[in-house]
Amino acid sequence: MKITIIGAGPGGYEAAIMAAKLGAEVTIVEKKEVGGTCLNIGCIPTKALLASSDVLTTSLEADKFGVFNDHTTADLKQMIERKDKVISGLVKGIEFLFESNGVNLVRGTGKLIDSKTVEVQLNDGRVETLVSDKILLATGSVPVCPEMFHYDAIKNDEIKDPGKRVITSTEALALTTPPKSMIVVGGGVIGCELGQFFSRMGAQITIVEMADQILSSEDEDVAKQLLRQFKREKIKVLTASGVADVKVQDSGVVVTLANGKTLEAEMMLLSIGRTSYSKGLSLETVGIKIDPQGHIEVDDNLETSVKGIYAVGDLINTPFLAHVASKEGIIAAENMMGKAKIGLHKAIPRCVYTDPQVAAVGITESEAQQRGIPYKTGSYDFRALGKAQIIGKIQGQVKIIVDDKDVIIGASIVGPEATDLLAEVTMAVHLGLTAEMLGDVIHPHPTLSEAIMEALHDVHGKSINKVSLRI
Ligand SMILES: Cc1cc2nc3c(=O)[nH]c(=O)nc-3n(C[C@H](O)[C@H](O)[C@H](O)COP(=O)(O)OP(=O)(O)OC[C@H]3O[C@@H](n4cnc5c(N)ncnc54)[C@H](O)[C@@H]3O)c2cc1C
Repeated sequence: MKITIIGAGPGGYEAAIMAAKLGAEVTIVEKKEVGGTCLNIGCIPTKALLASSDVLTTSLEADKFGVFNDHTTADLKQMIERKDKVISGLVKGIEFLFESNGVNLVRGTGKLIDSKTVEVQLNDGRVETLVSDKILLATGSVPVCPEMFHYDAIKNDEIKDPGKRVITSTEALALTTPPKSMIVVGGGVIGCELGQFFSRMGAQITIVEMADQILSSEDEDVAKQLLRQFKREKIKVLTASGVADVKVQDSGVVVTLANGKTLEAEMMLLSIGRTSYSKGLSLETVGIKIDPQGHIEVDDNLETSVKGIYAVGDLINTPFLAHVASKEGIIAAENMMGKAKIGLHKAIPRCVYTDPQVAAVGITESEAQQRGIPYKTGSYDFRALGKAQIIGKIQGQVKIIVDDKDVIIGASIVGPEATDLLAEVTMAVHLGLTAEMLGDVIHPHPTLSEAIMEALHDVHGKSINKVSLRI
């Protein structure tokens, strides 16, 4: 079986390795670095920079632990260099995995000629034609940049001027000097993570969000906790605020909000979402259907409207997350090799790497209310937990949501290491476990995971360590 994959992000590269392991002859086409958005301009670089700002915060608070460090300073340029080193090591790792699994990496831009043929404009100027039995499209997404925001740094997918006033996450991750002030348009995951990062680097941040709360699809209590921390750090947050006009001047950006109020800053970060990227693939030539939002349409097996051509990741209408893309890549690879696996989207973890972290799976409490699902909740504050007191991170809580049969249907965590803690409840939602089953598991002490155990017990009013007032 010969397989050609276009795009070596998490969707494409994991599919390539899985298909090779299953015996396929695989060629993967990538026009930039392997690892895609996630590794080069997404998950890994943001979290590498946030790791630096975490060290900064810890260092600034060291005296609370009896450690004195009078000379803490931060250098964004060196943080960027460290981030780039992390990326290049991981890029080499993927290239090595390709080599060791016999995956042929072709560096260039691919497009469809017919349902079996991909033409590649190689980066060295030559053209190569690849004929295969099956094709996987995994070309990802790009930031949404409506014209009114005057973002013009990226032309023909190349960053022309990373020093622009109006930037996206791509340029933000390459800034070596923090701006004095920055308006962040969009209080979603990227806006909150990068907003808090640049605030900790010394920038005066104003987050402008259209919805009534930041992280609009997450639990209200969770968003409130994050907002409380942002206020403590003097990050301004304007919710229920739309942008009506943007003017770019030599000195900075002037934003007029829908309510007439104006804001000025040195820079503006545009983080209002991403859109599937299928530009130049020639989908129309082979008749691949796309939906009105520009996602490629696929069936349950991730096959497009053209037999033998599959699509995964940010290109299709599933959550734009790296772990979703890689899971879909693996499923598509198995299906191209003759299996009939169905995409499993029941328990998708959602993580925000702010401080405190936010992590959720399944449905939120307000979603349960809106959908009329009978539910019960259990919760537990980190403040009451030994481990949280030990590490000095006491803000936040765990909230568990169960249905009328005690089956765990959702969880929202805000607090220390929330993103790692979420794995346990994700497994529970995936396997359909009840609060009683998971609560019966002995959790190690002292750990943050005990907050989950206590919240599970609290569903039945049996949390031993929860402080509740019974008058
Ligand atoms: C700032 C930021 C932070 C993020 N943080 C997280 C996070 O913490 N956790 C998380 O789960 N997700 C995160 N994401 C989302 C995550 O990066 C994406 O969901 C994921 O990368 C999608 O994977 P993909 O394989 O579909 O596409 P991509 O990773 O976008 O890869 C597509 C690849 O295709 C290549 N390509 C495109 N067209 C062609 C062509 N014609 N020929 C050849 N190659 C082509 C591109 O160069 C790219 O390498 C973040 C995104 C951003 C922007």
